[in-house]
Amino acid sequence: MIDFLIIGGGIAGLSTGARLSQHGRVTVLEAEEALGYHASGRSAALFEESYGPPSVVALNKASADFLHSENGGYLTPRGLMLVGHKDQGEAFEQDVADLSMQIVPTKEARVRIPILDPATLGFTAVSNAAFDIDTDRLLQDFARVIRGNGGEVLTKAKVSAIRKDRRWIVEAGGAYEARTLINAAGAWVDEIAALAGIAPIGIIPKRRSMARLPAPGGHDVKDWPMMLGVAEAWYAKPDAGKLLVSPSEADPVPPQDAYADDMVLAEGLARYEEMVTEPVTRVETNWAGLRSFAPDGTLVLGSDPSDPSFVWAAGQGGYGFQTSPAASRLVSDLVIGAVSELDAETIEALKPERLRQ
Ligand SMILES: Cc1cc2nc3c(=O)[nH]c(=O)nc-3n(C[C@H](O)[C@H](O)[C@H](O)COP(=O)(O)OP(=O)(O)OC[C@H]3O[C@@H](n4cnc5c(N)ncnc54)[C@H](O)[C@@H]3O)c2cc1C
Repeated sequence: MIDFLIIGGGIAGLSTGARLSQHGRVTVLEAEEALGYHASGRSAALFEESYGPPSVVALNKASADFLHSENGGYLTPRGLMLVGHKDQGEAFEQDVADLSMQIVPTKEARVRIPILDPATLGFTAVSNAAFDIDTDRLLQDFARVIRGNGGEVLTKAKVSAIRKDRRWIVEAGGAYEARTLINAAGAWVDEIAALAGIAPIGIIPKRRSMARLPAPGGHDVKDWPMMLGVAEAWYAKPDAGKLLVSPSEADPVPPQDAYADDMVLAEGLARYEEMVTEPVTRVETNWAGLRSFAPDGTLVLGSDPSDPSFVWAAGQGGYGFQTSPAASRLVSDLVIGAVSELDAETIEALKPERLRQ
C-alpha cells in the first residue's frame, strides 16, 4: 500500500514527494519519459524574493534559506535591472516599489549593460536580490530524496483512471492503491480532479515563450543582470553565454505540450530591440511553457474540502521553483498534521477552500 501517491513529476510533485517520503511510502507517477518535461523544464530559473502576490512572497522568503544553503546551495547571484523607456516614468515608479528596487542613473546602468540604447532608455533600477536557480539539480535532488527514503519515481506512467473504494485506486499502466492522492499535475490538475470526481479549481494555463539569441554584439553577457522591461513587457536573461529573451506573454491556452507563437515572439523581440543598440539577427532556438494559475493567481496547497485524502499542490504559476521548498513543506505539514512555520493568513490564502466559496 502506498501512503502518498503523487501525480506529476515536475517541481511541485518531486518537492512534495521528497518532504512526504520522510513520513510514509511515496510513489510519483509522471506521464512523460523524463521528469520536468513540461513547465519545470522550460522556466527562466530565477529566484526573486519580492516577485509575486503576498502569499507567494511569504513562500519565497520561507524558501530562501533552503535554496541558499541546502546541499551546497542552488542559487548563484544574477541581479535584476528594470529597464524603462523614456515614456514609461509612471509605470517604472510602480515596478520599483513593487519589486523593492533601487533607482540608478541610466549612465551607470549602461556601464553594466553596454547595449542599452541611450536614444530610448529613460529609467533604470536594480536589485541584487535576484539569483539563478540550478533547477535541474533541484529536481534531481528531490527525486533522489524520494528514492533514498524507499519511494519510487516512475516515468511513462500516465494516469488514465481514478476511483475511490476506501483507498484511491489509480490506473497508470498498472494499478496503484494509495491512502492519499496528491495532485501535482501542473496544467492538468483539473483533468486529474475530474477523473477523481473532485470539483475543479479553475486552473488557467498561460503560455510564455522564450527565444535564445547569440550574445548580442559578441559581448560577454555572463555577468549581466537579468533585464526586465517595465510592466513585465519583456525580459532578457544571460544563459550559458547566450541571451534568453521572453515576450513575457501570459496567453491562456488549454493544457498542452506548449510551443512558442511566432507572432508573439516577434512582437516581444521588437519590444526588447527598442531598448538596445544591437539588432536581433538570429534566433538560435525557441520554446514555450505553461504557467498555470488559479483564478486568484496564487498557489493552491492542501486537502480538498470535499475529501481530505485528495490533496492539491497546484497553481504554481510563474513561481514554482522559487516557492518549492516552502510550498512542499506546507503541503507535507498539512497532510501529516504538523504545525507550519508559515503565518495563518498565508496558509488561508493558499488553501483550496478559498476557491469554493
Ligand atoms: C517560460 C517560463 C518561465 C518561468 N520562470 C520561472 C522562474 O524564473 N522562477 C520560478 O520559480 N518559476 C518560473 N516558472 C514557473 C515554473 O516553471 C512552474 O511554476 C513550475 O515548473 C510548475 O511545476 P509543476 O510541477 O506544477 O508543473 P509541471 O512541471 O508542468 O509538472 C506537471 C507534470 O504533471 C504531469 N502530468 C500531467 N497529467 C498527468 C497524468 N495524467 N499522469 C501522470 N502525469 C501527468 C505532466 O507530464 C508534467 O510533467 C516559469 C515558467 C515558464 C513557462
